[in-house]
Amino acid sequence: MSVNIPIPQDRPVRVRVAPSPTGDPHVGTAYIALFNKAFAEKHGGRFVLRIEDTDQKRSTAESEQAIFDSLRWLGLDWHEGPDVGGPYGPYRQSERTEIYRAHAQRLVDEGRAYHCFATAEELAEMRETALAEGRRTAYDRRYRDLPREEVERRLAAGESHVIRLKMPLGGSTRVKDGLRGGIDIDNAELDDQILLKSDGFPTYHLANVVDDHLMEITHVIRAEEWIPSTPKHVLLYEAFGWQAPVFIHLPLLRNKDKTKISKRKNPVSLEYYRTTGYLPEAMLNFLGRMGWSMPDEAEKFDYAQMVEHFDFGRMSLGGPIFDLDKLDWLNGMYIRELEPEALVARLQSWLLGSGYLAEVAPLVRERIKRLGDFVPSTTFFFGPFDALPPEQLLPKKVEQADAYKAMKSVTDAIDAVATWDEASIEATLREQVEVTGLKLRDLFMIVRLAVTGQKATPPLFESMAVIGKARCQYRLREATHALKP
Ligand code: GLU
Repeated sequence: MSVNIPIPQDRPVRVRVAPSPTGDPHVGTAYIALFNKAFAEKHGGRFVLRIEDTDQKRSTAESEQAIFDSLRWLGLDWHEGPDVGGPYGPYRQSERTEIYRAHAQRLVDEGRAYHCFATAEELAEMRETALAEGRRTAYDRRYRDLPREEVERRLAAGESHVIRLKMPLGGSTRVKDGLRGGIDIDNAELDDQILLKSDGFPTYHLANVVDDHLMEITHVIRAEEWIPSTPKHVLLYEAFGWQAPVFIHLPLLRNKDKTKISKRKNPVSLEYYRTTGYLPEAMLNFLGRMGWSMPDEAEKFDYAQMVEHFDFGRMSLGGPIFDLDKLDWLNGMYIRELEPEALVARLQSWLLGSGYLAEVAPLVRERIKRLGDFVPSTTFFFGPFDALPPEQLLPKKVEQADAYKAMKSVTDAIDAVATWDEASIEATLREQVEVTGLKLRDLFMIVRLAVTGQKATPPLFESMAVIGKARCQYRLREATHALKP
């Protein structure tokens, strides 16, 4: 494919990865970070980590920390970011709200944005009308041209409002993507986008554009799923009178069945890959092959080689398949290359180091008579294992269909646990007894067998806390799958 990504001559290349800290650190974040960083390094540029935590309800400090840890584990560290600082900070959006407010106000003052006082009822009514008329856009712009005095009066009365951008009423907007060329979007299909929400916080669009501009980002390299947002961003750059960065949308990672990668079909938490024992360099190699290839099509290459040959012209847009068999194969090759001492060091920095052992040891101390018993009694804290067959997972008198339904519910509930500790795990599983209608003893036994592969183990909730969320999720899902009637 011939692509021509412009590289500015008068200023450095600056790129960023901008994850939202709203859950477990995602393989997609590492994928995007890798391509940003490789591109920056190829061009002697800077790689920035920005935390997009404007969704106050869903963002957590734990999730942010997990993003830092897992990107560092992969070696994808950043030149500037919330924890390392830099000249364009702060790098956490929740610390920049004044900046967004001032920018939204600037557009209002210039007549390019306006206060909208629509109530929830009004919006619902507009949606219904739009639906009945078969229109794509719902908001009917009723507050767009309110007389200034009326706006002042409503603001003085403290009426709840948002700030919306005045989108062009006709014509089209051209969105250029470095890998795809230009796409023209009919402006009539775009609503007057909200910039500032009624709680005074910015929308993703406003914060993202303002930050990319102020942080002097030259290339926005992000996932394909943001293409639909890009026309809004382009119009915002125009409203501010700013030059837009170059947009490069990377293909979505896909499950084997070609659907968008999801935790129902593949583990997506980076924590899963670290604790299961994938080597960071194998992981990077695997991610580097997602849509990209080396000039000689070599399957095995390291990060330095990737940087050396990095070129978006070698990107293919057909959805890359996140194929775990391929990853296992690559990982095995990297392991075989390690000298014995190096392998030992890896094992120790994985789970056989004193940190993790110190968490496991108290759980089995009462149950072992000889130190050697430690090994057979703790295998499930370390190794991956195959899910048991249904006949071994099912307690007496429990129907397979009921167990399957219950485990689906348990898996979803466990996915939603935000703080992974003994108390939250216990509360979640006890609640599932109510929800699923299985007997406590039966449900806990299925969960125990799913997570440990054994009937008698150290206390379940504590064990799950130590094994970690990502591996528990995976094992629960595998067992659920095995129970499918
Ligand atoms: N916060 C967005 C995300 O979570 C950033 C998207 C972008 O790179 O613009 O992926």
